[in-house]
Amino acid sequence: MTDKECIFCKIAGGEIPSSTVYEDEDFRVILDLGPASKGHALILPKQHFKDLCELDPAIAAKALPLAGKIGAAMKKALGCTGFNVVQNNGISAGQTVFHFHVHIIPRYENGPDMVTWAPGKATPEELAEISSSIREELTR
Ligand code: AMP
Ligand code: ZN
Repeated sequence: MTDKECIFCKIAGGEIPSSTVYEDEDFRVILDLGPASKGHALILPKQHFKDLCELDPAIAAKALPLAGKIGAAMKKALGCTGFNVVQNNGISAGQTVFHFHVHIIPRYENGPDMVTWAPGKATPEELAEISSSIREELTR
């Protein structure tokens, strides 16, 4: 299923041109128009899913191996020494396009810091309470 209003459906379906680096029956991988680093790519499923919670498990099972394949190609083609795989779900998490996608962000030696956070603190009691509430939800 695709969504007529969705820009990533149009890009994934080839209706809007993009810098495509890979395509198969399920995915199109394009270069991000506002790259975090040289070669920043996006894996777009051809079907419309809002986010990871809605993603078809069969497509999900193919997405991570594809991210690895693209990342490995980036290391050879671009000379990056690593890459981040980032996937945002929801406005609070920074999602701006509501068609599931995976960012692959090449990382270069001595490049700028990104995809980092300052580690917080949690007591054992807090961790126990949090894990129990998530576990309870998962077994509902
Ligand atoms: P997110 O914030 O996870 O929803 O990521 C959306 C990403 O899509 C951003 O990194 C944008 O730069 C990128 N983006 C938005 N529109 C386009 C487009 N037409 N072509 C390529 N990348 C796009
Ligand atoms: Zn879409």
